[in-house]
Amino acid sequence: MNDLGPEDSPRWQFVESEYRALMAAYGYREIRLPIVEKTELFKRSIGEVTDIVEKEMYTFEDRNGDSLSLRPEGTAGCVRAALQHGWIHNQVQRLWYGGPMFRHERPQKGRYRQFHQLGVEVFGLAGPDIDAELIFMTARLWRQLGIAHKVRLEINSLGSAEARRAYRDTLVAYLREHEAELDADSRRRLDTNPLRVLDSKNPAMQDIVAGAPSLLGALDTESRQSFDSLRRLLDAAGIDYSVNPRLVRGLDYYSRTVFEWVTEELGAQGTVCAGGRYDALVEQLGGRPVPAIGFALGIERLVELLDEDRLPLARYRPHAYLVLAGEQAAAHGLRLAEQLRDALPQLRLLTHCGGGSFKSQMKKADRSGAQLALILGEEEMARNAIGIKYLREDRPQETVPQAQLNDILAPVCASA
Ligand code: ATP
Ligand code: MG
Repeated sequence: MNDLGPEDSPRWQFVESEYRALMAAYGYREIRLPIVEKTELFKRSIGEVTDIVEKEMYTFEDRNGDSLSLRPEGTAGCVRAALQHGWIHNQVQRLWYGGPMFRHERPQKGRYRQFHQLGVEVFGLAGPDIDAELIFMTARLWRQLGIAHKVRLEINSLGSAEARRAYRDTLVAYLREHEAELDADSRRRLDTNPLRVLDSKNPAMQDIVAGAPSLLGALDTESRQSFDSLRRLLDAAGIDYSVNPRLVRGLDYYSRTVFEWVTEELGAQGTVCAGGRYDALVEQLGGRPVPAIGFALGIERLVELLDEDRLPLARYRPHAYLVLAGEQAAAHGLRLAEQLRDALPQLRLLTHCGGGSFKSQMKKADRSGAQLALILGEEEMARNAIGIKYLREDRPQETVPQAQLNDILAPVCASA
């Protein structure tokens, strides 16, 4: 579990603010849900025989003896809340959320025990139009973050529950032929959840996985038609993708369309965003059947992908640093700063506090990343003036009447 420091938070804020703007642009509304839920909810939705439920959940008994778990993902809680509050009763809902998730995994680069997701869940639409919308949205986000050239899209269809059941037998027959080569996890899953074998991260299993019969060949007609339509929608929009028949996702609730955005730049932890349809989950959790689809992206991995020189870092630095030399200036300066903030709501102004020499204040001004130092000393006070030093430009220092300051700062505020 990591701390996020002030040096790194601008990257996170950039991802989060672009995401928030994207959600508004597509008409998705935010929900905020508890971080703990009953353990049972995750067992019933994610599935008993999955990595998450078998070995990754932070589960504890609270004072009532109820078994609770820190949420390992957002979809289960969202469906629970949607049912509880009637959000999905005879209506379409486009929702988004963000926040920490918890999985007791082996920590490594790109894989943490507390990590952060941004996601969407859509209820009441059977696709494939909405499936395409989710993919368009994420593609747009990559463009806005400047990482579109680093990620590629993989899609697959898991078909209906019946199609998967039929496929399961074919797959099990194939895996039995290779039983001796299976690792312990896969051998166990052969009996409990054979599709999960296709999701194995063990490199030694990759040949067997690659040789397995394809789920796509076993699709039911409706799923096949929906998948073909999705492909046409992506083609028409110029979105590149590859069909990966081994893409099964690590959670049980998925059906039909599944997709992942992957990158080659983060080593083994290459999935930055993953999603798919979960048409059976609402009913499974006690509601009437409601088609649904969602995705979640991991902020840690996205932040890793950001290019330093494409980042609008200036947005997260002050425009100006107010240097206050002498007691009189310090008293007047705080008032002046408030006036400037009243006049220019966009202004990011750091006011020097704590006294100190002019020289040390100028050093702090520079280190703050501000574009300008505004200098108020005794001389300036006497003339109702203020000094302006351009910290990032080769431009002579000037002294102007304080009354002109708004006009000078307005374009600086507008620039970043
Ligand atoms: P992986 O295949 O990498 O284990 P997953 O299939 O378990 O991923 P999901 O549950 O679909 O991942 O979560 C969606 C996204 O959340 C992932 O693509 C990834 O960006 C992020 N994510 C998942 N687990 C972690 C983790 N332990 N640490 C950091 N990010 C994570
Ligand atoms: Mg995982």
